[in-house]
Amino acid sequence: MGRAGASHLILIHGEPRILVDAGPGSFVRLGESKLSLDKIDIVLLTHLHSDHVSELPGMIKARAVALHRPIRFRVFGPEGSGKQGQITYFPSTRRFMDLMFGREGAFAYLPDFAGRITFETVDLPARTGAQDKPQVIFDEQGLTIRAIPGHHGDAPAVAYRIDYGGKQIVFSGDMDEKGLDNLRKLASGASLLVFNSAVLDPPKAPPILYSFHSPPGAIGRVAAEAKVSAVLLAHLSPATEQNRQEVEDSIHASYSGPVSFAEDKLLTRP
Ligand SMILES: [Zn+2]
Repeated sequence: MGRAGASHLILIHGEPRILVDAGPGSFVRLGESKLSLDKIDIVLLTHLHSDHVSELPGMIKARAVALHRPIRFRVFGPEGSGKQGQITYFPSTRRFMDLMFGREGAFAYLPDFAGRITFETVDLPARTGAQDKPQVIFDEQGLTIRAIPGHHGDAPAVAYRIDYGGKQIVFSGDMDEKGLDNLRKLASGASLLVFNSAVLDPPKAPPILYSFHSPPGAIGRVAAEAKVSAVLLAHLSPATEQNRQEVEDSIHASYSGPVSFAEDKLLTRP
């Protein structure tokens, strides 16, 4: 569809500070946006599918080269999946960062290449349970970030809420309907809910896709129940992109707030 993979930047006082996912192609879009990388020090990974994280080395390298000063990144992401048969399909986020930037990693040179880079990586709980509650993972100078386990098929996943200056943005990550109870708790009263919109209502998508993504009808219900002020649909697929009206109508069957569709380089205010 000519779009970059999933990636979002949170700007605070006009400066990008938080990177949420880093899908393929997002680095070029960042450059086209003429946004500075200089203040980015928080990385929130919703899950470790390649279309959400594969641009990370490029982003980190550019950030280091631009500044030539020591940088400490705080990286948050899901715990690992454990072994499935002989294979660990999803390492923990710490292991994932180690596989890229650790001493034995594919890009072991990078932490010493320009300014010294340090990663403080935190693995977050990623298995849903009835008792889940949003956990504060970062709280400094009025910026508060909360996380709760998401659900995205067999991929460990985390949803995030960012609160600053009286505004709240929630990222579902890729989420199937098993994650919606948690999302409802996390998104309660938020100014903006950014939700993945990759499938049409059943039975219009192959059944397997519903084990990875939530259809528009379910997005509308959770948005209404959480009383969010607005919904931004991201991670669009050809199916949802080409049937925007149908998607919007289905969401509006239960949710009365504004619904918009993300574009690459879209700048939005919650
Ligand atoms: Zn995914």
